[in-house]
Amino acid sequence: MPIYRTEGVILRCRDFRESSKIVECYTRDYGKVTLVAKGAKRPKSRLGGAVDLLNRIELVFYYKETREIQTLSQAEILDAFEDLRGDLRQFSIAVSLCEFLDAVEAREHPNVRLYSQLVQSLEELSGVRQPELVLYQFVWRWLSGAGFRPRFRRCMACGRQPDRGPVQFAIGRGGFFCANCRRPESTGRDLSLAALRLLLWMRDRQVSELKGIKADPDTIAEVEHLTWEFLRYHTETTRPLRSLSFLRKIGQDEKERREADVQSTDRCKADG
Ligand SMILES: [Zn+2]
Repeated sequence: MPIYRTEGVILRCRDFRESSKIVECYTRDYGKVTLVAKGAKRPKSRLGGAVDLLNRIELVFYYKETREIQTLSQAEILDAFEDLRGDLRQFSIAVSLCEFLDAVEAREHPNVRLYSQLVQSLEELSGVRQPELVLYQFVWRWLSGAGFRPRFRRCMACGRQPDRGPVQFAIGRGGFFCANCRRPESTGRDLSLAALRLLLWMRDRQVSELKGIKADPDTIAEVEHLTWEFLRYHTETTRPLRSLSFLRKIGQDEKERREADVQSTDRCKADG
């Protein structure tokens, strides 16, 4: 039985029998692999400490082609992303990123570029002022890589870059009509120029460049809606996602948080 050594990020963990765990790990060289970590729940297990959600680990596993679940033999922590674990919002976004990848990626499809995007996103997340943008950027870049590259730059009818909004984004066609070329009969979604530019910017930039960004909350809300709808439209038909609710939930949490911020600002104003 061949034995493989690589590194990976743990996307999901669940208990298995009395003392073991089953782990979904997105590895650099083999894509997503499902592993059993035997005895990982025992207090003295060497695997137990390393096998935890979000950890980036160096791992060795036994591979058998006929099996869906491979056997983890060694695991060492390379990065536990401690700074993310101390912040509930950042942590929940990091977990959503893992859930997303777990939901959309089939087993054993290696993609080194996707792996480095995942690691970079987790590394940069704590330094970004609006961490939800890291998740949306990851989703759009994943969509582009998976063949659903949207057209955010030029109008599908006249080919011009828009100078005023809102544009009409046609989800099924993966592009937009500018304000001059809007189709009255089409069921496109209105998108502000700011949201369109943010989407284009995010799709084509590195995650490290998100650090300098501070977007308007309404623009982020537009991006969130479009991300969710686009993802649902294009992926549910080709490969059903286990769940999209996490992305929805992030959007709702952000909305509630913004409303709470507005209320507390109003209270401060009233007090002052
Ligand atoms: Zn046009």
